[in-house]
Amino acid sequence: MSDCLFCKIISGEIPSSCVYEDDQVFAFNDIDPQAPVHFLVIPKEHISGADAITSENSAVVAHIFEVIANLAKKHKLDGFRVVSNCGQSAGQTVMHLHFHVLSGRDMTWPPG
Ligand code: 5GP
Ligand code: ZN
Repeated sequence: MSDCLFCKIISGEIPSSCVYEDDQVFAFNDIDPQAPVHFLVIPKEHISGADAITSENSAVVAHIFEVIANLAKKHKLDGFRVVSNCGQSAGQTVMHLHFHVLSGRDMTWPPG
């Protein structure tokens, strides 16, 4: 999608600190980290959010969680949180499906 920030990050039009890439997904460090480790994992296909996951596009979500598990092992994360904000009221600011991976500090529950 031409006017999507994360599509521009995938294409390299906007630079990012990439931590992983394959044919289906892209992962990069968040520009405004909320924990010592904070990266985002996104599908290369533009999906607007968790509410736009369908039987046609959901396979990439399973792959994203496999990538997250592999990155957690690679970086020896001692516990981590995966968050996907969906919709403005839940705090979604970029309308391209993304999974925050946060680690390196104690997390509180419930989230704000
Ligand atoms: P959301 O608020 O939609 O759940 O998450 C969007 C995330 O994208 C935020 O954590 C924000 O810091 C991050 N972000 C916004 N713009 C950029 C950018 O240009 N580069 C990177 N690396 N992260 C960004
Ligand atoms: Zn996009």
